[in-house]
Amino acid sequence: MPQKKSNIHEYEYKAEMKQLLHLIIHSLYTHPEVFLRELVSNASDALNKIRFRLLTDSNVIDPGEELKITLTLDEKKHLFTIEDNGIGMTERDLNEEIGTVASSSTLEYLEKLKVEGKTMEGDLIGQFGVGFYSVFMVANEVTVETRYADEGSKAYRWKSDGKGTYTIEEIDREARGTKISFKLKKEYHDFAEEWRVKNVIDKYSTFVEFPIMIGKERLSRIGAIWQQPKEKISTDQLTEFYKYIANDSNPPLGHLHLSMEGKVNFKALIFIPSKAPLYFMRDKEEKTLNLYAEKIFIQDDAKELLPEYLRFVKGVVDTEDLPLNVSRELTQSSPVMQKINQVIVGKILGLLQEWAKKDRGKYDRFYKEFGQYLKIGLNIDFTNRDKLIDLFRFESTKSEPGEFVSLKQYVDRMGTDQKEIYYLTGDERSSVIKNPNLEYFKKNAIEVLLLSDPYDVMIVPSIHEYDKKALKSIEKADLEIHGDQEDGEEVLNKDLAEPLIKVFKETLGDKVKDVIESKRLVNSACTLVTGKDAMDAQMERMMKMMDENYTSQKKILEINTKHPLIKNLARINLGDSKDSILRNSILQMFEGALLIRGDLEAPTDFIERMTELMTKATK
Ligand code: ADP
Repeated sequence: MPQKKSNIHEYEYKAEMKQLLHLIIHSLYTHPEVFLRELVSNASDALNKIRFRLLTDSNVIDPGEELKITLTLDEKKHLFTIEDNGIGMTERDLNEEIGTVASSSTLEYLEKLKVEGKTMEGDLIGQFGVGFYSVFMVANEVTVETRYADEGSKAYRWKSDGKGTYTIEEIDREARGTKISFKLKKEYHDFAEEWRVKNVIDKYSTFVEFPIMIGKERLSRIGAIWQQPKEKISTDQLTEFYKYIANDSNPPLGHLHLSMEGKVNFKALIFIPSKAPLYFMRDKEEKTLNLYAEKIFIQDDAKELLPEYLRFVKGVVDTEDLPLNVSRELTQSSPVMQKINQVIVGKILGLLQEWAKKDRGKYDRFYKEFGQYLKIGLNIDFTNRDKLIDLFRFESTKSEPGEFVSLKQYVDRMGTDQKEIYYLTGDERSSVIKNPNLEYFKKNAIEVLLLSDPYDVMIVPSIHEYDKKALKSIEKADLEIHGDQEDGEEVLNKDLAEPLIKVFKETLGDKVKDVIESKRLVNSACTLVTGKDAMDAQMERMMKMMDENYTSQKKILEINTKHPLIKNLARINLGDSKDSILRNSILQMFEGALLIRGDLEAPTDFIERMTELMTKATK
């Protein structure tokens, strides 16, 4: 409940908000100057909102006034003021937009940074939707005076020391828009000096579309660079523009500058970032490309512009084909948006194909960051299915760790008698590569894709086949492989193998689906494989993570009848099929195979049996 002092209401920040403020002020930001960028950017957003509203509705306070941002500095008193004649804020906005911000995931992330002793780079601040609070880095107390644009709306003053509480009171204010003022902390007095402020604005805010005034002086700005011809824009300008719209301090990996005329008319500047976002802001409105209609900002969350799987790109789309008074509902159902979407997707995938062909290093860098996004696309974008499949990359037994191969490369170097594309899934390359199921393939130099990204498990069944060759897990029992001809090692003869397999089955009972003779093993004595229609091992692991009651499918145990251990066991079996060393060895082999897969749940029995066997062996 608000505390009331005359007409001033005092509110307390929620606990998590206090925590967030503390983090911001005390440790995280490395560049305090970003407060200026954040305030200018909020002012520019507010101006965009009023400009959009004015397209169809002039029933607002001072409809004819020029839209601008005004900075007032007082060097002697160390005062800083920024004012805009944008949309302004209602009392509710002050409470809900300014008073409460932190989503729990933002906080968690910030806490983590702090615990790890890291600082928060200036460019992250805007991405978290906490930009306004960066002002508390440079000021101990901040005053916001604001009036919403509706005629007859009330004006308010919001004040806070950014610690525990804030106050709101009603005030008299004629103008619409927002004025934010504060006295600078001692260390930051330079932000009341003109040269310093101009400098920061030059660095971060040259693309702001509205005039920025310092006193009577209008700072120069660049404006809508996507409207200019390609050859007129320098690489530096592109990079700066990218940094400005993407809130990223790294340069982009690449860009597209489109100027389309014909069935659909639009200009666009689209960037591929060099780094994937650190975390998804699921609880915040998702931003996509900024949509403009004839240079007027319409919205930054038009989901229709891009399929979900490409929403990591940043940039601007400006079209003449939408009516100027376009509403949100209209953009949602507009065929123009559909057409723009199709063109953009085609162009982005085209650019990626070009990189993949001509600049492998660049493509690999892209793929490491955004490969998972593309994978999501496979089950969404059926039109571009083949293109996407060609863009996928995997590690393989013939690639160095961290290096990728495409399916095309795989198929191109496949042996003539190989009919299928082999793969093996697992948690990480280093463990997958040791899987005994690979032995046959290694020995015969047959390439196997090593899939350690959880998303691979989702896409492999949908890819199904490539160049008419089926993708096949080498963990499946029905693999068509031919026993090694050249190998000198002899397999156990049938009369010994069959009764031994019988004892294996008896001993393991319903722990396994079946026990069979292996053709794929070279060095190991046994391995576990799955039935023909069974789920992939990695997929099963995911099922287990999602559902704790999930029970694993039974596996098939394959034994290597060339292995000395199996031969020894066959010999013991000849004498006494109930022999305890024989029975314990069988259990040990089975549980050892589970252990390798990371599937052995209770290791106590395993260890007890091992101790018993070792004691006997050392007698
Ligand atoms: P973000 O801008 O990422 O949403 P901020 O903390 O910078 O996060 O701002 C929070 C909200 O406060 C804005 O979304 C907006 O609704 C409101 N706001 C901030 N500054 C202004 C302003 N100058 N005019 C109108 N609204 C503003």
